[in-house]
Amino acid sequence: MCGCTPTYTAFVRTKKKQNKTRVMAPKNIVYGTVEVAQEDTPEDDTAATNPLDDDPDMPSTAEGPPRTATGTAKPGDPSENQTRIVWRNVILMAALHVVSVYSFFFLTWKCRPYTLLWAVGMYVCSGLGITAGAHRLWAHRCYKAKLPLRILLAIFNCMAFQNDIFEWARDHRVHHKYSETDADPHNATRGFFFSHVGWLLVRKHPKVIEKGSKINLRDLIDDPVVRFQRKYYQSLMFFFCFVGPTIVPIYLWGETFWNTLCVATLLRYCFLLNCTWMVNSVAHLWGSRPYDRFINPAENRLVSSLAIGEGWHNYHHTFPWDYKTGELGWRINFTTMFIDLMAALGQVSDRKVVPKATIVARKKRTGSLVAAAGCD
Ligand SMILES: [Zn+2]
Ligand SMILES: [Zn+2]
Repeated sequence: MCGCTPTYTAFVRTKKKQNKTRVMAPKNIVYGTVEVAQEDTPEDDTAATNPLDDDPDMPSTAEGPPRTATGTAKPGDPSENQTRIVWRNVILMAALHVVSVYSFFFLTWKCRPYTLLWAVGMYVCSGLGITAGAHRLWAHRCYKAKLPLRILLAIFNCMAFQNDIFEWARDHRVHHKYSETDADPHNATRGFFFSHVGWLLVRKHPKVIEKGSKINLRDLIDDPVVRFQRKYYQSLMFFFCFVGPTIVPIYLWGETFWNTLCVATLLRYCFLLNCTWMVNSVAHLWGSRPYDRFINPAENRLVSSLAIGEGWHNYHHTFPWDYKTGELGWRINFTTMFIDLMAALGQVSDRKVVPKATIVARKKRTGSLVAAAGCD
């Protein structure tokens, strides 16, 4: 869940909006960053309608096995006690993984060095399209980006092929707001496989659809880059994820078609998918919880290494508005380095950070280390 309770706010002011009270803290500009003790996140609103929401994978019914979190299915409701498998996705994912495993063991050593470098470069760029783009910029609004960078990140996002920015950000806001309940798209209480990839192989739980339709997405709709990418997503994704990465090595250094297709395109795509999914699975199951021991998201170095900085997940779920998604900035966090570089180039402003005092207070209040020391 987002850390949205007012308890930890150092300075509180309230304002009336739509008959509800919202809590905000003063913002202090420090070296190009904005200190925000308590975020006023877009997902806190409850706008009901969503004109862009024509997600074809938003079916009517779905349910998984029993779980331990809140939001358990009502007994006797047949629509909430069955999992509907999407066989098309199962077949495509299985085929992708078979080809990728084969490519890793039998084709990578046949590739030219430039092709391998190209694959790594594409992995980093497409990863940034998710981490710096869909996640930190569009889902959480952790910083502001000028149009050229937003366009670049939208292209990188197409390379990653994890659904368009709008859909990714919507699912992620639901994930934070209803973390580890039935309304969480990749509810980790349903087990490792479900939170890793299984959630993409079955119909969405009705609670995901119900709650997702109430998330405020106006800021995404108002962004012309998000609208354009969503409108032409199929064509853009096909070109930037598959066509471009495949033909460049062929024309620039004479790589064979099958080597570049299997390694630079399919293996690279499959690898990034699994790195991203590990944030939802591994980082929700294993690791330390120094900021909030009452939630499952954890600090995981391996995930941070593979997901270019997104593995500091206990911190991120405690302070989801911090643009670093981790307390220590550049520590195993390539995405933060990239955002800082873009800030130095004048493309980024208003990077939100959590004041040190707020972090220390939260650690003392809910952190696992304090509890272990018997000080809580
Ligand atoms: Zn999470
Ligand atoms: Zn997040």
